[in-house]
Amino acid sequence: MKYALVTGGSRGIGKAVCLELAKQGFYVLINYKSNTAEAENTLSLIKAENGNGELLPFDVSKSEDIKAAIAKWKTNNADKYISVLVNNAGIRKDNLLPMMADDEWTSVIDTNLHSFFHVTRQLATDMLINKYGRIVNIVSLSGLKGLPGQTNYSAAKAGVIGATKALAQELAKKKVTVNAVAPGFIKTDMTEDLDEKELKRMIPANRFGKPEEVAATVAFLVSDGAAYITGEVISVNGGLYT
Ligand code: NDP
Repeated sequence: MKYALVTGGSRGIGKAVCLELAKQGFYVLINYKSNTAEAENTLSLIKAENGNGELLPFDVSKSEDIKAAIAKWKTNNADKYISVLVNNAGIRKDNLLPMMADDEWTSVIDTNLHSFFHVTRQLATDMLINKYGRIVNIVSLSGLKGLPGQTNYSAAKAGVIGATKALAQELAKKKVTVNAVAPGFIKTDMTEDLDEKELKRMIPANRFGKPEEVAATVAFLVSDGAAYITGEVISVNGGLYT
């Protein structure tokens, strides 16, 4: 049995990734912050398809919470290791920079960027010892091209893209790959407030993407067939970014 941790697995893209990895045979650790009902729903959907997993709640913006939750799991599962990490949990708090409150900046950086460091650091050593691992970071079109009203979010995602490229070079010799997936507009709770009718006009595919379409790319990067791909950023955006 191989173990995969997906942060933010209760809803949206993370939920679709959990379901897809379970289909590929992974035992999935479903992380989330507070929405236990949705996380339990993800787990029951996995079990309904004869997969398996468990809930592993912690706040990815709090290093002490991360350390405690992962240390406890490791103590209870001393003979196992997590070979796949999908850093997916994220938030956006859009505002124009002159109006941006301190909390809008720090919470977005803590949740989207600092989380990458704190979660990945807990798992990378085990991947190195076992000479196998897959790390996939969910970034964003916003981190590639920058989007107005998202200086906080663009900075965080661009930071993760830089870290992906650096860490890929650190870990490659030990058969641990590190890649990023950059979605455009995907239909989830996060984009519920956006005007799809208006925005889809600028998307060549003329629609928002589905969480499952991001999950399929994550599953590919996690597969054995992707062993020679590392340090890459793959866009899943209907042709929006060129
Ligand atoms: P959703 O808002 O639908 O879901 C967010 C998930 O992250 C939930 O499971 C939530 O848990 C979890 N989460 C949020 N904050 C924390 C935290 N501090 N600690 C632990 N878990 C947390 O988001 P999406 O599925 O749309 O987004 C997933 C990722 O994809 C994010 O990184 C986002 O930036 C990125 N992305 C999304 C795009 C889109 O168009 N949707 C486009 C580009 C990138 P809980 O249920 O407990 O709140």
